[in-house]
Amino acid sequence: MVDVFITSCETYNQKEVNRAVGKILKNFKIKPKKTVLIKPNLLGSYRKGHIVITNPAVIEAICKVLAKNKNKIIIGDSSFQNTDIAIQKSGMLSVAKKYNAQVLNFEKTKLVNVKIPKGKILKEILLPEILFKADYIINVPKLKTHSLMKLTCAVKNLFGVIPGYKKQKLHGLAHSEKKFAQLLLDLHSVVTPTLTLVDAVIGMDGEGPSAGDARPTGIVFASQSSFAVDLVACDMIGWKRNYVPTNRLVMKQKLFNEPITIHGEMHHIPYKKPPALPVGLLSAVMRFMPKPKITVNKEKCIRCGACMRGCPVGAITLNPYPLINTKKCIRCFCCIEVCPEHALYLKDSFIVSLFNSLRKKNLKL
Ligand code: SF4
Ligand code: SF4
Repeated sequence: MVDVFITSCETYNQKEVNRAVGKILKNFKIKPKKTVLIKPNLLGSYRKGHIVITNPAVIEAICKVLAKNKNKIIIGDSSFQNTDIAIQKSGMLSVAKKYNAQVLNFEKTKLVNVKIPKGKILKEILLPEILFKADYIINVPKLKTHSLMKLTCAVKNLFGVIPGYKKQKLHGLAHSEKKFAQLLLDLHSVVTPTLTLVDAVIGMDGEGPSAGDARPTGIVFASQSSFAVDLVACDMIGWKRNYVPTNRLVMKQKLFNEPITIHGEMHHIPYKKPPALPVGLLSAVMRFMPKPKITVNKEKCIRCGACMRGCPVGAITLNPYPLINTKKCIRCFCCIEVCPEHALYLKDSFIVSLFNSLRKKNLKL
């Protein structure tokens, strides 16, 4: 039996978040004076309160509880852009100062080579040593959609423990949806958080992880099991659990098959899916149709080159706007993730748009 705790939290008002997070954390025993590593989602250099990153109010509420418990607190991450700037802009640095916490850029900390005995894609990997020295890891994802992995929540957020551009290299190693999902599970087999607490006060749907729409969801929820968190997240947002590739593998490989007990009120807030090919008969037809194209919004693009530098297979050149070599592209969507201006998006071809509109009208094809 695995417990998932859900508490309402309608806004990022600090008092309200403190109340919600405090209530959730009462269910988990963290020994005083031990070291606790908090892993937020700092996708990139986004300002405090931006919907694509974990809100600092949630991190502050966790720190408040831990400080009272006399824990040594570390807040660490590696973003897809400049992590030092991401830590500062996101408000994490201010929170850390307030609670005497250490801030750790995983790209600048001691790394250790970790064997992954159960790994199917990853056999070993360099990871920050602190992941194995901390007594507790609290994973604090933002509830969002994700073009490749459909959902970024408990399991996907751990990808941020991999330092810097190694992340993009791994996208190159595991470029299919299934392989990348397996890679995430390989990683999870050696970096297993003590607890995952999800910032779903305002989530994101549609074109996540960086160009979607704000989806007020009004909750924080938590569990000791990352898998339970991701399964329950799907239930909440109206998706089949197996729509998410990591969930699919978790169920197929029987990594998690315990009953889940929900404590608190289950919420049902439908999330728009990220752009993707549909399933069923239509999917069979559409498999032969052009995939959504990565497109540049030239009005937004500042020609910074971050997408080019972030591409694991060198498929992008700037001329002067990004040009994507579709023969080289492995559709990892790192470029969409790293773009600070949300200037890259997936655009369906005319024929696919037509099919999708027919599908929305519930026409049987
Ligand atoms: S698409 Fe985004 S990341 Fe690429 S050059 Fe333009 S602004 Fe920079
Ligand atoms: S162009 Fe974008 S989606 Fe294609 S491989 Fe490069 S980063 Fe990935």
